Amino acid sequence: MEARPTQLYLIPTPIGNLEDITFRAVRILKEVDTILAEDTRTTQKLLKHYDIQRPLQSYHSFNEHRNQAHLIERLQQGEVMALVSDAGTPAISDPGFLLVRSCLEAQIQVECLPGPTAFIPALVQAGLPNDKFVFEGFLPHKKGRQTRLKLLAEEPRTIIFYESPHRLVKTLTQLSEYFGPQRRCAVARELTKVFEETVRGTVEEVKNHFEQKGVKGEIVLIVAGMSYVP
Ligand code: SAM
Repeated sequence: MEARPTQLYLIPTPIGNLEDITFRAVRILKEVDTILAEDTRTTQKLLKHYDIQRPLQSYHSFNEHRNQAHLIERLQQGEVMALVSDAGTPAISDPGFLLVRSCLEAQIQVECLPGPTAFIPALVQAGLPNDKFVFEGFLPHKKGRQTRLKLLAEEPRTIIFYESPHRLVKTLTQLSEYFGPQRRCAVARELTKVFEETVRGTVEEVKNHFEQKGVKGEIVLIVAGMSYVP
């Protein structure tokens, strides 16, 4: 069977440093008919930097359900689109999954380019085992949070969380309670940006560090699995 040409590209974009984008990503963004963007103003800055002049359309969690059928219709008529999020890989803790699923159901070819995402550099530079890991994304804020933490306390693989700066100390406090204060972890902050840092230690040490210093910027939290012995 002849391969169908790709019609929906998912294109990873920089998580801070504008140089972190592939040549192919830039070329495809210059070639597609339409770029679907989580926030058109954010994406416009990237497009300007790389002199990409393609029509932008907003695609975010508030309109993704509503837009689905119309986008599928346009793709079926032959339009080629790229989906980007504000930063990193679309559909990773970002909108995209619904569109990928609808495309596949409608036999529309989808391709995700390899590229930036925050959790891979955070995991690799954490210095914790990375031969097996689980990506948890954001913990629930209220309902289901404790159940999730109780379950994860027994997880043998390294665990990856996305976290907001104002919730980090609360999460580390709860990790100390549920996982124990000696569990190893690492907080990667502001990856690829000017004030990038990774703080490593026990949950208690890292919590004390951020309690004293305050927390700013974007955060990935990596926690060792239950069985890890340094
Ligand atoms: N799609 C993105 C990806 O592939 O990583 C994730 C989008 S999610 C809405 C945003 C979260 O990713 C932030 O709250 C933070 O946890 C993480 N993140 C994004 N950029 C980051 C950076 N430069 N440094 C640390 N964490 C980052």
